[in-house]
Amino acid sequence: MAPRAPILLDAMGTIVTFVAPAARLRTLLAQRLGVQIGEDAARAAMKAEVAHYRREHDRAIDGPSLAALRRECAGVLRDALGAPGDGLALDGPDGLTAILVEAIVFVPFPETIEVLDALRARGHRLAVVSNWDVSLLEVLERTGLAARFDAVAISALLGASKPDPLPFTTALRELGAQPRDAIHVGDTYGEDVVGARAAGVRPILLDREGATDLPDPAADADDHPVTVISDLRGLLALP
Ligand SMILES: [Mg+2]
Repeated sequence: MAPRAPILLDAMGTIVTFVAPAARLRTLLAQRLGVQIGEDAARAAMKAEVAHYRREHDRAIDGPSLAALRRECAGVLRDALGAPGDGLALDGPDGLTAILVEAIVFVPFPETIEVLDALRARGHRLAVVSNWDVSLLEVLERTGLAARFDAVAISALLGASKPDPLPFTTALRELGAQPRDAIHVGDTYGEDVVGARAAGVRPILLDREGATDLPDPAADADDHPVTVISDLRGLLALP
């Protein structure tokens, strides 16, 4: 990696993750509402909720629109729960919306903070480039990550999600950096690698499970060949 190259980082799956949301959902439903659901049902319902959220998160641009999206996601969750979800209230302190928000707790990956600090100590400027709703800033504060970044580009606030180049170019402008000098690391090929290339930035794919199907190398030829790392420590060893 070029000395002091500006580094853009995706958020979900790259610097933060969530802790067993389906298990937390089951516990909260049992404790608060006395509703019992099975493990598989909880996982399937969370999956439906996450899929809906990922399609819609750019609509949540402020407090009211975020609250509306969360309520809508809770409705998707309720429908996906089937019979045990019938009649569950969405609103109120023990409503499904509040329970859903409580079930989703974001945490940094084990190596996130040490790697960000090591990169900063080497003089790299860091930015988050994320497909997320307006609440990302709060998540970064709560996880102790906010102060480690010089810029945060959030799709919902820009009206454009990766692979659109706008979140990348916005972060670079805030860093006062040129695309050709920068790298971007993220865990989703179609958003992070494709988007970085569209913005003229060198892509690094973070493949924690070793499970990402990469395009055939010949078909993947680009001025910016993708480098694959298995956790963020890989950034410290890049050539
Ligand atoms: Mg991601």
